[in-house]
Amino acid sequence: MKQNGTELGYNSKVEGDVVVTKADAVINWVRSHSVWPMPMGLACCAIELMGASASRFDIARFGMEVMRFSPRQSDCMIVAGTVTYKMAPAVRRIYDQMAEPKWVVAMGACASTGGMYRSYATMQGVDHVVPVDVYISGCPPRPEALLDGMMRLQEKIRTEHSSRELLGGREEQMKLRA
Ligand code: SF4
Repeated sequence: MKQNGTELGYNSKVEGDVVVTKADAVINWVRSHSVWPMPMGLACCAIELMGASASRFDIARFGMEVMRFSPRQSDCMIVAGTVTYKMAPAVRRIYDQMAEPKWVVAMGACASTGGMYRSYATMQGVDHVVPVDVYISGCPPRPEALLDGMMRLQEKIRTEHSSRELLGGREEQMKLRA
């Protein structure tokens, strides 16, 4: 039987053992376990991002090892490094080329806030040009911190109203993200 606080209901008294759930729970479960990152490596944090794919940290455990270098094949931009004003239009353009649903992770102090670079050339956080879902602190954050941030993103994805979005609420979602 369905228990409070769970997304699944199971009733063995029904012939054939029926499992019932919510559309949002299924869609979000699938989405959160098949995140394909777009590595936006802009500086030293990108080395830690690469490290997360190594066997010691093994990002493949989360189904996220498929780093795509095409915005058309990815749904999570990981901004790893310093965002300069010169690079910002390219970051935004690649974000725009990614299909919905899509998410953004700001990895490290530079991507989150500009870090130590309080200079005319450095954007003080990538959230000036793209909506950020998860911020990861550190200079640089270790691969474990990135994995922790990706787990936070999974938790966030699990709370989204995906079925409403599929049924035409996309404009509403975009307004919320703007
Ligand atoms: S946060 Fe630190 S390690 Fe990461 S890009 Fe900036 S200076 Fe480099």
